Amino acid sequence: MENLRSALTHFHGQSFDVAIIGGGINGCSAAQHLAASGYKVLLVEKRDFASGATSRSGRILHCGLRFLAPQKSISEFLFAPGTLLMKLRTASDMAVAQGELYNTIRAYLRPMDIALPIYKHAGYSGWHVDIGAALVRLMNRGRSPINYRRWKGAASPHPFIRHLANQGDIRSVVAFTDQQFRWPERIALDACLNAEDMGAVIRNYTQVVKLEKSGKTSWKLTLADSEHKASVDARYVLNLAGIEIDRTNRMVPGLDNIPPRVRAMKGVHVLIRLPEEFRGHGIAGENSEGEHIFCLPWGEYHYLGPTETFYDGHPDEVTPLDEEIDFIIREAQALLPGLPIKDAKIEMAWAGARPITFDANRAKGKRLPFSIFHDMVDQGARNLLAVTWGIIVNHRQTARRVTKKIKGVLGAAGPGKPINYSPREVPALTPTSSAADIEHAVRHFLTAEHATSAVDILCRRTPLFWDKAVTPEFLAKIVDTMGSILHWSDRRRHAEIDSFADYVWRNHRVEL
Ligand SMILES: Cc1cc2nc3c(=O)[nH]c(=O)nc-3n(C[C@H](O)[C@H](O)[C@H](O)COP(=O)(O)OP(=O)(O)OC[C@H]3O[C@@H](n4cnc5c(N)ncnc54)[C@H](O)[C@@H]3O)c2cc1C
Repeated sequence: MENLRSALTHFHGQSFDVAIIGGGINGCSAAQHLAASGYKVLLVEKRDFASGATSRSGRILHCGLRFLAPQKSISEFLFAPGTLLMKLRTASDMAVAQGELYNTIRAYLRPMDIALPIYKHAGYSGWHVDIGAALVRLMNRGRSPINYRRWKGAASPHPFIRHLANQGDIRSVVAFTDQQFRWPERIALDACLNAEDMGAVIRNYTQVVKLEKSGKTSWKLTLADSEHKASVDARYVLNLAGIEIDRTNRMVPGLDNIPPRVRAMKGVHVLIRLPEEFRGHGIAGENSEGEHIFCLPWGEYHYLGPTETFYDGHPDEVTPLDEEIDFIIREAQALLPGLPIKDAKIEMAWAGARPITFDANRAKGKRLPFSIFHDMVDQGARNLLAVTWGIIVNHRQTARRVTKKIKGVLGAAGPGKPINYSPREVPALTPTSSAADIEHAVRHFLTAEHATSAVDILCRRTPLFWDKAVTPEFLAKIVDTMGSILHWSDRRRHAEIDSFADYVWRNHRVEL
């Protein structure tokens, strides 16, 4: 017995109100909100849930302050009041989203104390940031701690400041609390499992390979997994395929030449260990290309990054390259010359591709606003909607807007159901768990959470890999337990261990 789920052919010929392509944070959250509104939902993910950009981000749950910064100088807002309004709206969305997530899934978050040096050449002063922070506090309305402080010059007790370059040029330093997504994969999983509780069909390792109109407004989707093919009908299709949004739209006969909607921008992060005094603290600065660079706490480690490069490689193989890791280390060392960065051991790395909204005039895509809707009715394709650049922070806001839009088209559905945002009860699993507890947890992930591999269990269903808690011995126990439940041969078990080791080396530069 290799697979515990029903054969794909079981769904052949079924009809859904909404079919969602892509099981990242946006697809999972949309499935949850649409199922709660009474729609019959299908969510299809070609790899594992939350294994795309959702699992490869900078993991910052922004409080909103960063989005109020001008590009060069504060005076640019005088000539572009529209930009100021858009930034205010974005900051407000972030502040509200942070407050909501902090109050519903605090167990999946971690606070970070982030410092931001303001240099003499910056186009804004400390008191401008004071005003921004006051606005963010108003928008947030006390829902989550912001703990904003400012010091004149470089005289700040924040541990990173004395290690910065150009101390004499520091005009002031601000610091505030931002939250971190400790476990974004679990947030997406909880959402799609809650959708399943409410009647949605959710399938990982199932790809949409064909998308065709069926009548004037409906759709026929051909699905494929490793064994079977099936076709299903849907009244509405949501294209939430991340960097594959264009590829997915262009599957539709007649849409194969439509202009791009998404720009894939690769970003890499690198994990190193810094001395104990930096725990819980982070710093935001600028790299030599004028892009943001962060050094953020991750338990007893810190991660540095990101990079910002156009990506046109294989969508399933977005992996960190040596030259990208070297670039980050060089830039972080230049930002913080007083710290032992260039000789630090690379503990882990990861890479993802941001599904940024395409803009013919901007090589790096349109950064704001987030969550742009592309109703493909413009191209003669009714009831097909793609969403670009929905970030993790605002996934619930995006899902609510999507649901409202679909309600406007499909009309009311069946009776609504209450959404459950609470963290899901999951059996505890640690490297010191007893054999019985490991058996209980692994069986749960295989039978109740759609896991099929050790990577699914250790990298997404639990935070163990990201917490650097996976040893070869523990992996062997997990694989043995999977093998007993799934009746694997010794050869199959060895192949699973090799496959895990290969995955974490290619994707994370971790040698097991
Ligand atoms: C380097 C980097 C840093 C970032 N930093 C932050 C941050 O600090 N904070 C924040 O909030 N956001 C951040 N983001 C943005 C955020 O990670 C993404 O915007 C978000 O995860 C996108 O989610 P998604 O569901 O739209 O896409 P994805 O998570 O990429 O999901 C799309 C899914 O569609 C699937 N798919 C594609 N084609 C098909 C098909 N034909 N059939 C079935 N499935 C298909 C893919 O396998 C994929 O899993 C960052 C992103 C990156 C890359």
